[in-house]
This record gives sequence, structure tokens and C-alpha cells, in this order.
Amino acid sequence: MSTDADCPFCKIVAGEIPADVVHRTGSTVAFRDLNAQAPTHVLVVPTSHHENAAALAQAEPGVVAELVDTAHEVAVAEGLEGYRMVFNTGAAAGQSVFHVHLHVLGGRELAWPPG
Ligand code: AMP
Ligand code: ZN
Repeated sequence: MSTDADCPFCKIVAGEIPADVVHRTGSTVAFRDLNAQAPTHVLVVPTSHHENAAALAQAEPGVVAELVDTAHEVAVAEGLEGYRMVFNTGAAAGQSVFHVHLHVLGGRELAWPPG
């Protein structure tokens, strides 16, 4: 399993820094975003380190489905009627942590198109 000693999300997976973990599966961890943009804002990450969703899909395609399943479990547990899943990919798209993470947002009206 790939890890990066300098990666904050690898540290959360390893329990080395605290996080408000709401769900775990064999290959994923879901925790609340520190800077929530909606009443529910959870990040779902694979336990292994990959830079973005495309890299994860190449290396461990089944884990991409596990991220989506986990996002759905979180949405059900939070009682969300609808929710948004987002993979920011690349700095130009707003990615700031280069360990793939699926944003799960809900609990308010979500505008479209996003900014
Ligand atoms: P992105 O901009 O798509 O890379 O998203 C990174 C997200 O990670 C941002 O929404 C941050 O608020 C969030 N974040 C960064 N560090 C932490 C942390 N230690 N615990 C929880 N969320 C974090
Ligand atoms: Zn990592």
C-alpha cells in the first residue's frame, strides 16, 4: 500500500493527526472537512496514497467504487435528500491536498454551475 510521510491525509489514515472520522471501510476513511462549505462536508479518502482520482482508478479501480459507496453511506447516515460528490483534480481546479479525496457536500441548496 502506498503512503507518503509528508501527506496530511496519510497521517489521518494512520491516526497520527486527529480528524472527526464518520465512517471507515476496508480501504476508505471518511472524515469531516476542517473548513466545511455546507452543513455536511465530508472527505472520503482511500487508505493508500494516490495523487488524484485518475491515478487511483489506474492503480486500484475497485477502490474508486468503494469511495462512491462510502459517500452514499455517509449521505444516508446524515439524512441528506441530495448531495454533491466532487474530485478537484489539479491545482487549477482547486486541489490543495494531493491525496485523492471525494468531497461529499449536502444539507443546503447547492447551486449549479459551481463557482
Ligand atoms: P481540495 O482543495 O479539493 O484539495 O480539498 C482539500 C480539503 O481538505 C479542503 O476542503 C480543506 O479544508 C480540507 N482539509 C485540509 N486539511 C484537513 C484536515 N487536517 N482535516 C480535515 N480537512 C482538511
Ligand atoms: Zn497521502
